[in-house]
Amino acid sequence: MRIDLHAHSNASDGTDSPAELVGAAVVAGLDVVALTDHDTVAGHAEAADAVHALPDGTRLTVVPGAELSCVVDGISMHLLAYLFDPEEPEFARERELVRTDRFRRGRAVVERCRELGADISWEQVQRIAGAGSVGRPHIASALVEAGVVGTVSDAFTPDWLANGGRADVRKHETDPVAAVRLVRAAGGVPVFAHPGAVKRGRTVPDQVIADLAAAGLAALEVDHTDHDEETRRRLRGLAGDLGLLVTGSSDYHGGRKTVRLGEHTTDPEVYEALLAQATGAKPITR
Ligand code: AMP
Ligand code: FE
Ligand code: ZN
Ligand code: FE
Repeated sequence: MRIDLHAHSNASDGTDSPAELVGAAVVAGLDVVALTDHDTVAGHAEAADAVHALPDGTRLTVVPGAELSCVVDGISMHLLAYLFDPEEPEFARERELVRTDRFRRGRAVVERCRELGADISWEQVQRIAGAGSVGRPHIASALVEAGVVGTVSDAFTPDWLANGGRADVRKHETDPVAAVRLVRAAGGVPVFAHPGAVKRGRTVPDQVIADLAAAGLAALEVDHTDHDEETRRRLRGLAGDLGLLVTGSSDYHGGRKTVRLGEHTTDPEVYEALLAQATGAKPITR
């Protein structure tokens, strides 16, 4: 069983459509892939249709999910949520709040980039984002198009879009303890995404992770491309101390990042344990 529990489509900042992501997961030899777009479930229906249309003899399960943008003491962090009821109104409202504020913030970031001499426009960013939950990676793609930086990743420096960078503007983000409770109340399973991704900015102290565990967090995403070996060892120990499960996943973004789908995976026993906690939705199979 090859299980990848974190992937993005063009419903947020990935480049594959949800149907293309399903195809890519089959090609990558995955048995399970989670669709976890930032603050949205807009890709779920298309992914489900694609799973249902898979040819005979092809087997893939899609775990419907999302990745919620959170902040604690000024430190941004991401909470993965799996198998919640997408209709549950309180969690749905919180996702909507974050998505709406992404537009205000996106315009402000574009304005800052223009003041800093980058010839990009909001229209261009909207064209790149399409219907997707708009974010910094779309603006990064606009900066690449304008020849300001060479790659999306090069746009995430203090000169441009990195947390605290010259063109960084904060968006509304949810308190993570509240978010864990919202996800659980919607029947979902909350997992802390890339908790030690230092290259993205400050990471939360262990005490916050302990608070999240007490509020109902299920797992830490430990095997992730942004974690070095020492970080993984430390997080595995912390998960053990706090009674949390440990997952691994690619955080695939199509062409916007270099990581391959299935580059990191989750143990089947852990996957089963996460499924056993979910009451809000079912995995999508053919
Ligand atoms: P946003 O949700 O709009 O604040 O943008 C955050 C997204 O930017 C993350 O989900 C990543 O996809 C991407 N990102 C953040 N830091 C980096 C980085 N250092 N290199 C490349 N992409 C990044
Ligand atoms: Fe992303
Ligand atoms: Zn993330
Ligand atoms: Fe992600």
